[in-house]
Amino acid sequence: MVHSDALTIGLVAHDRMKPALQDWIARNLKVLTGHRFVATGTTGKILKEDLPDLEITSLKSGPFGGDQQMGALIAEGRLDALIFFQDVMTAQPHDVDVKALVRLSVLYEVPVACNRATADLMVSSPMFSTKSSMPIYPDAQKAFGDWLDRLD
Ligand code: PGA
Repeated sequence: MVHSDALTIGLVAHDRMKPALQDWIARNLKVLTGHRFVATGTTGKILKEDLPDLEITSLKSGPFGGDQQMGALIAEGRLDALIFFQDVMTAQPHDVDVKALVRLSVLYEVPVACNRATADLMVSSPMFSTKSSMPIYPDAQKAFGDWLDRLD
């Protein structure tokens, strides 16, 4: 059951890193339960089979635009954290999308974990609890504000 102040957490794993992400989630299930998840297509499909009780929304597959959809969520302020296990030993057809996704995470101050060690540190932080407990950086918030103002 997802609570009202739950985090929205992005999940992406390149093919050879999918087992590592499955294993990492299984080990951290307690701290992750109660939050909502958005995953790229194949990552989401595999995780849903494993973990039917987690609320996981699947985007398109990464190489078919899923990484860009995830980036759009970041640009709209709708993602609180990103777990992105990358296979850095294999050339990726959508390398530009991978770079763009990490770039937007950096730009908008979205915590991004690209390996297990960082993901472990992320979820063990007391800040990793609710939307209101996550770090806030006013300059990054301003970027959202400017964009929203333009809609008026
Ligand atoms: P996938 O995409 O979850 O659809 O495999 C991940 C990726 O960006 O490579």
